[in-house]
Amino acid sequence: MKKLLTICLAGLLLLGCAPRQTTTEADVPTAAPTADPTPLPVDDGPDPQEEGGMTVTIDGETFAYDGYRIIEPEVTFDIHTKTADDFVDDFNAVYEVARESYRLTPGTDTETTVVKITGAAPGPAVYVAAGIHGDERAAWYAGLMLQNITIKAGTLYVLAPANAWGAQRNRRLVGEEDPNRCFPGNESGTLAQRICFAIFRDIEEKQPELLLDLHEAIVYKEGRDFLGSTLIYTSLEGMEDLFFDLLFATQEGEVTSCPFGYNGPGPAGSMNRTVADQLKIPAITVETFRGYPMERRVSDQLKVVAYALRHKGML
Ligand SMILES: [Zn+2]
Repeated sequence: MKKLLTICLAGLLLLGCAPRQTTTEADVPTAAPTADPTPLPVDDGPDPQEEGGMTVTIDGETFAYDGYRIIEPEVTFDIHTKTADDFVDDFNAVYEVARESYRLTPGTDTETTVVKITGAAPGPAVYVAAGIHGDERAAWYAGLMLQNITIKAGTLYVLAPANAWGAQRNRRLVGEEDPNRCFPGNESGTLAQRICFAIFRDIEEKQPELLLDLHEAIVYKEGRDFLGSTLIYTSLEGMEDLFFDLLFATQEGEVTSCPFGYNGPGPAGSMNRTVADQLKIPAITVETFRGYPMERRVSDQLKVVAYALRHKGML
């Protein structure tokens, strides 16, 4: 009964940071947030209908808008000089850990690093895959910082940036393909299919208790589902308590800078959906809203991860 109530309440709180009111000079009508898990379009090129000078107001905050997506604020600090504990107190503690790293798709344009952090005490394994969409920078910036944290128990794998090709070019894609529609990938396929294959196999081999798949959202269009700060799941099996504890903690302002909504399932071919369906490993996709300043987005990404690690007894 408690679970049922929780689910009903969660429904009411759907899409916490999604726009409830919208005004813009270009007369973009209000879009009601829905639970429709319609995948966002593959689009990292210039929008043919791009227009300048518009704004959109979401929950009292005004953002520059090009008629299709929110324009991301400039990053006003050097993210590479920051560490996780600059953003989140949970990471201030220093534990003794073993740290090693290995490469996925070595020698290719998608070559990237997984750092394995092992705490002194036994505990579960958690896998963080940060930024399979390369232009979702707060996701993989947070991932790079997480590669340097310490944990007291268990094993943490941090893949960052998951899409090194896109991260280098500030692009969502790998080549011309959306890697988050390519899972489980193909060892002898395209560049995108090969990195997806490598990531999928790595997760399969490590058998974590939880996958955290870090993303960001920016597209805002009339009549489309809006992904603001959101948690996405495909199956709650094996993580029901964590998922709802986390969701409600964000709703109560205990974790992140704003309430998170939820959505699901992950789209076909996404890491979340494929890992949950085929490997039966619980997976949470974390979306932060790219209209917010980078500090806020990185902080929210790190706070969600810290919450999950604490929930697992690893911090
Ligand atoms: Zn994404």
